[in-house]
Amino acid sequence: MNDFKCVVPRVLFGAGRRKELGEEARQWGTRVFLALDPYLQHAGVGKEIESLLTGASLAVVPYADIEPDPGCFQADKAAALAREERCDLVVAVGGGSVLDFGKGVAVVAGNPGTAWQHTRRKDHTPLVPGPGTLPVIALPTTAGTGSEMTHYAVFSNPELREKSTIVSERIIPKAALVDPELTYSCPPQLTALTGVDVLAHCIEAYINVSSTPFARLVSLEAIRLIGAWLPRAVAEGSNLEARQHMAWASALGGMAIAHANPTLPHALGQAVGGFVHAPHGASVAACLAAIMGISHEAAPQDFADLAAALEPAAAGLPLAERAARSAVLVEELLERIGVRVRFGELGLREEDIERVTQIALTGYFTGISLHPKKVEKEEIMRIYRGCL
Ligand code: NAD
Repeated sequence: MNDFKCVVPRVLFGAGRRKELGEEARQWGTRVFLALDPYLQHAGVGKEIESLLTGASLAVVPYADIEPDPGCFQADKAAALAREERCDLVVAVGGGSVLDFGKGVAVVAGNPGTAWQHTRRKDHTPLVPGPGTLPVIALPTTAGTGSEMTHYAVFSNPELREKSTIVSERIIPKAALVDPELTYSCPPQLTALTGVDVLAHCIEAYINVSSTPFARLVSLEAIRLIGAWLPRAVAEGSNLEARQHMAWASALGGMAIAHANPTLPHALGQAVGGFVHAPHGASVAACLAAIMGISHEAAPQDFADLAAALEPAAAGLPLAERAARSAVLVEELLERIGVRVRFGELGLREEDIERVTQIALTGYFTGISLHPKKVEKEEIMRIYRGCL
């Protein structure tokens, strides 16, 4: 067994736990930069969150000009506002985009340099967030990214058409208030796509060649929950039990990728997501089962474990058959929740494949190298073509 380390934020989980926000936030400062999902602001949740903070005698600077796959330059602008307003903590309430945006603001407001300069890439030496980084409190409103549990913040650079990630323990939220009620309003397609993201996190953390016992433990439990509850969360949005299980699965998925990087599906999906500005879950969904289909022979026991977690009846199959079954089960699950997506539908064209492959190899080299099946440029291009 490899050596490993475990870092998990303070988690307050359960329906209604958002109401403890004021108490949690008060421990970290007096002036809050509130990064808010634009959807929630319109839905009135923003007002409730603001009053939870003002009710605890905190001053609030609300900010909701945040796009999906947040732009790095927008984060720089928001950080300037946070500095000007002398904010001493960030509260982020929203999907993964808003949680990441809040983390980026926390970095840029408290350190020299821009958000993009802090991202981890092969083509520059990233700036390292220092002790000035503002504390972050995260309230997820999608069950998908698990960003509330991670030391990652993903940013898009619209000039380069690429995404890159800030990686620092300083952006692990001081508290994650995981309140499944905040996900009730996610429509079926968003629930499905974000659910696929959770599934992919857990699969990839499990098969990662440097995975850790902790990542594997939480991954398998989350996969079991996803197999049992994701179809119900999609079909019945106000089913509290389904939403609870998916919110927990998402948090577990976040813990999984925080302790074992995602591998090839995220590397290839995210490169497309940044290039064509496609929803994160959709760009991963477009290649997940296909990559599993060509990878299971490289780590049959791991893939067999995934199949048994998704379908307990698969446990009786011989090892190689069980491993192959994992890809089929994922395909069937995606079908059941109405996710049938191809890269071409997201806007990728045949003539973009070479460029996107280069982006994947430059920006996501770690994930590619940790995938159990070793792939080079030609194979990556073949995968893109096969999923176009
Ligand atoms: P998202 O945050 O981009 O949100 C998608 C859409 O859903 C937005 O229009 C948003 O307004 C809306 N929305 C959010 N919550 C809602 C709700 N409760 N009801 C109705 N609508 C709602 O989607 P996401 O999948 O959560 O996040 C994707 C981003 O997270 C990507 O940029 C991805 O790269 C990043 N990511 C980060 C990590 C990490 O660890 N930091 C991990 C995986 C992905």
